[in-house]
Amino acid sequence: MKKLILLVLASLLIFIGIISFKTITAPHLQIKIKHNPAPLLSDNALHHFQEAISFPTISYNDTLQWKAEPFIQFRQFLEKTYPLVHQKLNREIVSNYTLLYKWQGKDTTLAPFILMAHQDVVPIETATQNQWTCQPFAGTIKDGYIWGRGTTDDKINLISILESTEKLLSENFQPTRTVYFVFGHDEEIGGKQGAVKVAALFKQRKIKADLVMDEGGIVTKEKVPGINKAVALIGTAEKGYMSLLFSVNKKGGHSSQPDKETAIDILTKALVRLRENPFEAKFVEATQDFMRYLGPEMNFPNNMAFANAGLFKSLIDKNYSKTGTGNAMIRTTAVPTIINAGIKDNVIPTLATAVVNFRLLPGDSSAHIISKVNEIINDKRVIVSKFDDNISEASRTTSVKSIAFTRVDSLIKKSYAHVVSAPFLLIGATDSRHFADVSENILKFSPMLDPIGFHGIDERVSLESFRHSLWFFEQFLRSCH
Ligand SMILES: [Zn+2]
Repeated sequence: MKKLILLVLASLLIFIGIISFKTITAPHLQIKIKHNPAPLLSDNALHHFQEAISFPTISYNDTLQWKAEPFIQFRQFLEKTYPLVHQKLNREIVSNYTLLYKWQGKDTTLAPFILMAHQDVVPIETATQNQWTCQPFAGTIKDGYIWGRGTTDDKINLISILESTEKLLSENFQPTRTVYFVFGHDEEIGGKQGAVKVAALFKQRKIKADLVMDEGGIVTKEKVPGINKAVALIGTAEKGYMSLLFSVNKKGGHSSQPDKETAIDILTKALVRLRENPFEAKFVEATQDFMRYLGPEMNFPNNMAFANAGLFKSLIDKNYSKTGTGNAMIRTTAVPTIINAGIKDNVIPTLATAVVNFRLLPGDSSAHIISKVNEIINDKRVIVSKFDDNISEASRTTSVKSIAFTRVDSLIKKSYAHVVSAPFLLIGATDSRHFADVSENILKFSPMLDPIGFHGIDERVSLESFRHSLWFFEQFLRSCH
């Protein structure tokens, strides 16, 4: 008996020893670079940003509501505000509204860099119009923030890029590498006329880039639990997108004498089964990188959990599954977004349909998920088909060893004081997903600190964010070698 207790104790000690060893020896991956404080924000730059917000460059799903005028006026505003950019860079207009700029570099043997941002914004929901503190297209400055639709998504990036370029041109600066700017006009509705067309142009011209950077991650003090430093989240991969249509056909009839099961019953059971059986949780490469970069910067017990992620997988899974954001990072998600059946209160409908939206984890192909869905529903009466052709597979993962990642990582540390950086899996979709054939190294990062109201009410970004964003892009362009 005594021997057994000793044996158990000894194994426990060895176990604790291994975990502690792995925790203590997990390497710190943060690059040490001297911070270069951002200069003060100029009134000029701020006025330009405010004016940019005043153009309601709205993308609607319903194309009948779309208006060209704001896009044309926005373009004229850019031409007037950034004269050197329009004198010295080559500008092409793609699909009438998307803007493609080329800033010729000194060394044509180097592959170019591509910076992306989009001109369009999402609409203001009619029901929320009077809930806004400031008028959404006024560009008001209040409480240290600039308010309005498009401030965070994504005009801060577009204006920061052009503002920095104009400044550098006024110093007669020329980058070593060629740099392209791609400013799409339909990102919010899939980028089919903008980013897709520009990517095709690059492909046709056989241009391969060493770096593509688009919106996505941010600098945050709030969003990463278990760490008390600001974290710069650099998206190195992006989830895929797919919607499926579920339809059930079953003889309807009068509601006074219903069958045991109706089309509505069968459909709702399928939806409940799908929601109750989540897809398998996985730590994909970008998530593993996230843990390797942040673990050593965290306190106990988070550092221990991240350093031994394999061992603590079920614990991490459980914790992450509790919130919508956490859950989305570790698995493919499914949620019904449209449901339709019935026309009259006393008629049992013959047809019931639902649209279910999926966000695909890298490694979970759309075909694999479709077969999984059929397996989970396990009911031949529910016909599962593709809702539309707006399907994109999850992206590849950009290596943390790539020039793109190391460059952006060091520029973040130069621009922001006391920040740690981490690669991560982006849940949303960006225009850069269309550039898979143009570059191996695609990153999703906006150099702003905790923006508020993304796609919602009171969208705003701090003046500090704008100051740092300008500084980040200026340093980025200066170091395009
Ligand atoms: Zn956006």
